[in-house]
Amino acid sequence: MTILLYQTDSYLRSFDATISQMANDNLGIILDQTVFYPGGGGQPPDSGKLTIESKDYTVKRAARQRTDVIHILADEVPSLQINIPIKGEIDWEKRYQLMRTHTAMHILCGVIFRDYGASVTGGSMDPLKGRMDFEFDTMQKDLVQTIEAAVNIEVENARLVKVSLLPREEAFQIPDLIRTKINLLPEGIKQVRIVEIEGLDLQADGGTHVNNTSEVGQIRIVNYKSKGKINKRLYIELD
Ligand SMILES: [Zn+2]
Repeated sequence: MTILLYQTDSYLRSFDATISQMANDNLGIILDQTVFYPGGGGQPPDSGKLTIESKDYTVKRAARQRTDVIHILADEVPSLQINIPIKGEIDWEKRYQLMRTHTAMHILCGVIFRDYGASVTGGSMDPLKGRMDFEFDTMQKDLVQTIEAAVNIEVENARLVKVSLLPREEAFQIPDLIRTKINLLPEGIKQVRIVEIEGLDLQADGGTHVNNTSEVGQIRIVNYKSKGKINKRLYIELD
């Protein structure tokens, strides 16, 4: 089981680890611990490099493999011994942009629930842009500017973003988490990671975020689409 260093400190860019397993015909490496995010919850996986015996290997992306993170390499490595020490480094510019974008999505989600009672049903993001789907039957064009102003107030409010790990039973007692479909979590998961924008949003979430909403910067709502009577999709961009 890979230790997920990014879950407790999303600002880590590099790390030391040891190889626990080679996979995918020596195109994949599993480590004892990693800062590479394997993707999920709408956030794309990290890329970067691993340095093994003074040689750099490009990691095209990380991916989840059961309870491990596998680092998918651009080039095959010679068969390596298990337990040898390595160094890893993620593509930080891309990751930090994703942390800001991911946090922007939480701000949008929190504002739309607070002001309109509309729940989020899904979303996806790329660095500096994303889209989110809401059950939001009252959404209309006139609201775009109002929502944009409201989310940017929460950026300026410099709210703290706090991460905690709670036992499953305890997390299930939090009413705010029910709306984010926490009940869909697989039975085997005993601990739930909670990401809270203080006073605005609370979600069960495994992704990476910034520590303060002020780091997100200006958020623009660039488009909105009706995906039916109830479902509306909002598109955001960051500078
Ligand atoms: Zn999140």
